[in-house]
Amino acid sequence: MHNVVIVGSGCAGNTAAIYAARANLKPLVIAGKEAGGQLSLTTLVENFPGFPEGIQGPELVENMKKQAQGFGAEYVSGDLLDADLSTRPFKLNIEGETVETQSLIVASGASARWIGLESEQKLIGHGVSSCATCDGFFYRGRKIMVIGGGDSAMEEGNFLSRFGSEVVLVHRREQFRASKIMLDRAHANPKIKFLTNTVVEEIFDVSKNTVTGARLKNVVTGEVWNQEVDGFFVAIGHIPNTAVFKGQIETDPDGYILSKGGARTSVKGVFHAGDVQDRTYRQAITASGAGCMAAMEAEKFLEAEGH
Ligand code: NAP
Repeated sequence: MHNVVIVGSGCAGNTAAIYAARANLKPLVIAGKEAGGQLSLTTLVENFPGFPEGIQGPELVENMKKQAQGFGAEYVSGDLLDADLSTRPFKLNIEGETVETQSLIVASGASARWIGLESEQKLIGHGVSSCATCDGFFYRGRKIMVIGGGDSAMEEGNFLSRFGSEVVLVHRREQFRASKIMLDRAHANPKIKFLTNTVVEEIFDVSKNTVTGARLKNVVTGEVWNQEVDGFFVAIGHIPNTAVFKGQIETDPDGYILSKGGARTSVKGVFHAGDVQDRTYRQAITASGAGCMAAMEAEKFLEAEGH
């Protein structure tokens, strides 16, 4: 029986683990299938306070984990397959093993969103990717396409321009969601070409099991054309990892957990932290702050319940 189980090992989960461990709650952290969260997929993080020269994302998140382990937090690899939150203690199925806990911190983050084309799904890992940091290296001197109009697309475009011979950034509207500074940086990059009002209709070539091009459509003029490309990077946002809690924890229509004040969810004893609830800020520092809040609230809850 655990006092507190934390689902997720990104900034939110690791910070919650540090605070819960220092409160002597001996937290168990379920690392999840994307262990380390979004930071483990990035390179240099320049806006996490305390690192004037910046720090590599994977290093930052690994440091947090070590810090939590130093105070007695336990980490298990694997994923949460099922959860019964109807009564306390809550029952969690971690890859077939049942664990019971008096409180739960959901810090399971959000995963990459895909366009939803059949060809895209078939070519994931064969030229289609959602992670420039992971796969950019493979496209040295090749033609790269990036989909999206937010900060992620700008960041990936800039990063991929280090490798590719050219980067074509395809966005479905004229206006960008990206912040001005990120957009300006991408515009100033001579290797990045912009295609706005453009959607992807098909990615080629499933029969060859590799990306050779894409069929694009200008939604204003109706023009349709094929464009050669070797690497296809999707950077169109994320989906919160709450499927396992569906029908148990209240969420908004997109699946983001609805906050009931502070770190509280609709289920007593279950707290939220990080991107799984936050669709606005989604920063490492805000996720860490949310992890701290969740751990403090879990501690207060356990104390009030006499644990
Ligand atoms: P986002 O801001 O939600 O942008 C997603 C983009 O993808 C939008 O431009 C959207 O188009 C487009 N899109 C969504 N679904 C699509 C589809 N099915 N087909 C084609 N295009 C689609 O997501 P994000 O860029 O991942 O950023 C998320 C958050 O993280 C933001 O708060 C951002 O500021 C932050 N972030 C910050 C940094 C940084 O500061 N270094 C880096 C990355 C991310 P529409 O505009 O038409 O909706």
